[in-house]
Amino acid sequence: MKSKRSSGSAAKAPSSAARSAVTAPAKASCLPIERARLSDIVAARIRDYIVEHSLGEGDRLPTEHELTTLFGVSRGSLREATKALGFLGILRSAPKRGLTVGRVDMKRVTEYLGFHFSLNNYPRDQLLKTRLVIERGALEGVAEHMADDPVVYETLTSLNDRLNGLTDSDAFIRGDIAFHRALLEASGIEPLVAFGDLLGIFFLRFRQQVVESRATWSGGVRMHRELLNALRRGDLGKAERIMCEHMQVYREHARKDRPS
Ligand SMILES: [Zn+2]
Repeated sequence: MKSKRSSGSAAKAPSSAARSAVTAPAKASCLPIERARLSDIVAARIRDYIVEHSLGEGDRLPTEHELTTLFGVSRGSLREATKALGFLGILRSAPKRGLTVGRVDMKRVTEYLGFHFSLNNYPRDQLLKTRLVIERGALEGVAEHMADDPVVYETLTSLNDRLNGLTDSDAFIRGDIAFHRALLEASGIEPLVAFGDLLGIFFLRFRQQVVESRATWSGGVRMHRELLNALRRGDLGKAERIMCEHMQVYREHARKDRPS
């Protein structure tokens, strides 16, 4: 990887001492930094730096002073950026160790991004398609795990059975979320669960409208059961068709219930 560039950056060329202290990332330091959202740009550059230098959890970053020189920004802007990255778990800051790479707090990221989706009235049909990709993508792993371990089927079935006698819509929504989350978990593909949580925050609001029509409740429980049975038989094609049909109820709402 080329790491040396001439100092044609909008930022003042760092002193030679500073340049030797930190290896300038290939792209991160050569774009002009504009005034607004400066801390967002700095945060993006720190992320680039981490990726370009293949830094992993616990690795140290250059000192604050080196980073301000590298990016040509004030200490205040740098601190704002590191605070934001710290919030998401990407960076850690300790008195003597300085800045190190952290572990992303997926729970926080999903909460934050899920909220973002809700606020922006992100097109529902697109979110729905995303959810279908995630939920369908999990099914193969679920079928494999079911074949290995009968407890997987039993656990999912008992979660679904709990939905049966419910009369309270909040409880039904929570139960349905728990069922779908457990399905993703049963795939053994962890990031799918995180992505599912991300969309789940959005769907929580969406679901509240859907479950107002009670007729969909018993239909949903029946589909869950058919889905589990298809997975247990290893009939992936059928399981995928059921999942599509199950999501159809949301699709109808997505069509007729566009945000004003
Ligand atoms: Zn469901």
